[in-house]
Amino acid sequence: MQPDAQRDIYFDHAATTPVDSRVVEAMLPYFAERFGNPSSHVHSKGVEANQELDQSRASAARLINAPAETIIFTSGATEANNLAICGYLEANRERGKHLIISEIEHYSVINLCLKLRREGYDLTLLPVDKLGLVHPDKLHAAVRRETALISIQHASSEIGTIQNIKELAAIAGEAGVFFHSDAAASAGNIPVDVVDLGVDALTVSAHNFYGPKGVGALYLRPGAKLEAQIIGGFQERGYRSGTENLAGIVGMAKAAELALAEMPQRREHLTVLQQRLWNGLSQKYEFLHFTGHPSERLPGHVSFWLEYIEGESLLLFLNVYGIQTASGSACASNMRGQDEHDLAASHVLTAVGVPAEYCSGSLTVSMGKDNTEDEVDYFLQIFPQVVERLLAMSPLWADKLKGKNPYQ
Ligand code: PMP
Repeated sequence: MQPDAQRDIYFDHAATTPVDSRVVEAMLPYFAERFGNPSSHVHSKGVEANQELDQSRASAARLINAPAETIIFTSGATEANNLAICGYLEANRERGKHLIISEIEHYSVINLCLKLRREGYDLTLLPVDKLGLVHPDKLHAAVRRETALISIQHASSEIGTIQNIKELAAIAGEAGVFFHSDAAASAGNIPVDVVDLGVDALTVSAHNFYGPKGVGALYLRPGAKLEAQIIGGFQERGYRSGTENLAGIVGMAKAAELALAEMPQRREHLTVLQQRLWNGLSQKYEFLHFTGHPSERLPGHVSFWLEYIEGESLLLFLNVYGIQTASGSACASNMRGQDEHDLAASHVLTAVGVPAEYCSGSLTVSMGKDNTEDEVDYFLQIFPQVVERLLAMSPLWADKLKGKNPYQ
């Protein structure tokens, strides 16, 4: 089959989603017409902006079943994660200097905590099992008297696994330890209820559920103390100063409303696509291995690694055919060659036991609400051709055909 110039299939929703046209429409008036500063209480443009900010806060809060006043708008999940972790530690210095996170956190948690370790904090990186789950007994065993904070993501954008946050947060609660969860990959895609989960803080990012980039939120349980990380004119109750990105916040609120209203249909549709892709790939190649949990996973998310084939080449070939997917996480590819830890192989795949020499052959296919069964079928048609071409170019595969062990 020849490359199809007509095809533009986006299968990388874990990296970011397109902004829903209804979200764009809701945002537009806030650039040139309703452009007021919510802090300008003395005139009508400011008052109007402030009212919109309040309404948007209520909509964003509803998405995660939180009271409106617990929401702190930020520039995204990275900032919310930094605010939760550094903000809590600074405001609660009497707590100990021990932190617990999982081995598969996003870089905005893992690299921040590695920095804190260099500054004197003791860091436990909790292992996950082969399916990507943190085991409650491992968390229980890791908690100490001097543990100040636990941060465990709700879902992994790379392998799709959804953690049992309720059980993990309960362990933290019993020990009286602050529990934060990065829900950037899950909020807006699956039900997230901060009351039911029992978390003290939770991170949300708008561009993971058809909202704009550069806006997110941190939920902070009433009564919890945080030190601001961005200091200035006391916006966001002093937790996050700076004139609010109102157009972005309105967009996030609209995306949250749509996500809540449409979540059952979106999930049903994505489950059909996921199953179709999974069935089309499984048992076809003995050298294809799925990653993540088979059932406790993000809807529309299929991830796997391949022996003998390099992930980057696979992505490039698929892209020629108009299919856009990811190898490892989008963020991981920015980190290659940096020496914080060995990021040539994704830390997430290494954590779930994929041997480092294979890790470059991984693929994350994350579908979205507007993808179709026809697009999945096209992928399933193209994929074997790409695999065949890459195997023909692979010295590892040539060794295997000669009966040699290519990895020795
Ligand atoms: N955490 C997770 C789990 C993510 O998937 C991402 C990226 N979508 C981030 C944090 C960073 O989010 P942001 O781009 O909003 O800073």
